[in-house]
Amino acid sequence: MSKILIVEDEISIADLEKDYLELSGFEVEIETSGEIGLQRALHEEFDLFILDLMLPNTDGFEICKKIREVKNTPILMVSAKKDDIDKIRGLGLGADDYMTKPFSPSELVARVKAHLARYERLIGSNMQKNEVIEIRGLKIDKTARRVYVNDEEKSFTTKEFDLLTFLAQNPNHVYTKEELFRKIWDMESIGDIATVTVHIKKIREKVEFDTTNPQYIETIWGVGYRFKM
Ligand code: CA
Repeated sequence: MSKILIVEDEISIADLEKDYLELSGFEVEIETSGEIGLQRALHEEFDLFILDLMLPNTDGFEICKKIREVKNTPILMVSAKKDDIDKIRGLGLGADDYMTKPFSPSELVARVKAHLARYERLIGSNMQKNEVIEIRGLKIDKTARRVYVNDEEKSFTTKEFDLLTFLAQNPNHVYTKEELFRKIWDMESIGDIATVTVHIKKIREKVEFDTTNPQYIETIWGVGYRFKM
């Protein structure tokens, strides 16, 4: 259930908004103080903020700006003055929508739903951008640079991660130690290619159930290594 925070000092308006949003299945909390509202917006998890522009001691402009500095959560700003709406737009504070009071509660609900749906699509498309390789219980998240074995995260050094990812991206291809050394260490293999052997051993200790009978990285005797697809 989506959770909404209303920051509004006029309690009758806040209550009306809350009633309608709850009828539509949202979980709603009201904060009448701008300062506390801002703190809650920054430190608690909400899916959308409805922010009144005119609040005692602090104003919605400032709150909107501060939330936007750290969060992408949709912000719907409400104001009693039409002029303010133009001002908010002009300031480019990052609010997603603006409504002038009085507005119909059903209009508010419709806009809240639209913004939540848009935000969820945005989050969804960002998640799809995370490139993940999944092979038999081994999961490599290339974007986050994390490795999971049967959903348990394993800690990898940069080179171990690069080596495993390179092999997993090129399955069934046999690479010599020299080739791997050049690819991953990014220099001519005049260094010690035993480094590759050491890294393969460490990777196996993390990803293989039985290191004497590897399921992922196979040793091709006299040649090198191959990632089994
Ligand atoms: Ca107010």
